[in-house]
Amino acid sequence: MNIIETLNLSHMYGRTEAVRSLTFSVPKGGACALLGQNGAGKTTTLKMLMNLLRPTCGSATVLGVDSRKLGPAQFAQIGYVSETQTLPAGMTVQRFLDFCRSLYPSWDRELEARLLAIFELPPERKLSALSRGMRMKAMLLSSLAYRPRLLVMDEPFSGLDPVAREELTQGVLELAGSGDWALLISSHDIDDVERLVETVAIIDAGSLKLAEPVVSLQSRFRRVEIASSQIENIHPPGTCIHPQRSGTLSRWIETGFTPGTEGMYRAAFPSAGISTHPMSLKEIYLAIMMKHHAGTKGAM
Ligand code: ATP
Repeated sequence: MNIIETLNLSHMYGRTEAVRSLTFSVPKGGACALLGQNGAGKTTTLKMLMNLLRPTCGSATVLGVDSRKLGPAQFAQIGYVSETQTLPAGMTVQRFLDFCRSLYPSWDRELEARLLAIFELPPERKLSALSRGMRMKAMLLSSLAYRPRLLVMDEPFSGLDPVAREELTQGVLELAGSGDWALLISSHDIDDVERLVETVAIIDAGSLKLAEPVVSLQSRFRRVEIASSQIENIHPPGTCIHPQRSGTLSRWIETGFTPGTEGMYRAAFPSAGISTHPMSLKEIYLAIMMKHHAGTKGAM
């Protein structure tokens, strides 16, 4: 079963087409990152999924229900964490958690205690007096402790220091262990996201450019370096992007790497020194985005 499913989901703000015909899904047990530049349409997509904005065209289902019809029964099973969400400023952390606990029958006190220990939140401090990172942690704690079936996070790491980011990641991983849940997260912090998700969906100017498991991307993308005194004879294959030459070195990014690729290179360039290097998700994302923005045709 898919926890999230969109079909040609679109949104216009006046004449601005923020999201164009987006079709993707997040299965039960799946964790997906929405990646894209500023203004790509990530927040608009998440707001449509959370019934905070109506699609102009197309549709989405969340937990099997049309996103436009989501109500208390579904929101009791969804955790939504976003910087634009407001918290009851006058409450202390403890009072806020007591209040949330009374709302959710599935609230897990043991998980609450573990998350409180990870986040080191001051229980007696008012929410209005929390720093941005502490507020994010309070929001995440209140969204995780009832063990939602779906966690939706919009830029949770934005502006947080590395320790706070690590604590938030640890908090999400606490829930991830339980298996029966799904995660959709939008973030620019790709290194942090890489630890949380199995799939990425890249949006550019409102359109989906790619949706693929991280392991698949990391197995088919490789940085390639070929050293040869006869560099003029080294021609990058059709599956490569970003070819560069400097001195006796040819470099490119192979987008269709398989276990047989190195052997093919050795056969094609017998006297050259060949090395191939795995790439992080961030490096792969940058390579894909730079290719799209260069507008060049070819492999991806
Ligand atoms: P960021 O990474 O900067 O948060 P994003 O990918 O979340 O960006 P959105 O906030 O969804 O992008 O914005 C997508 C497009 O819609 C942008 O062109 C933005 O200017 C526009 N937009 C967003 N909110 C509104 C609004 N309330 N009114 C008009 N246009 C808007």
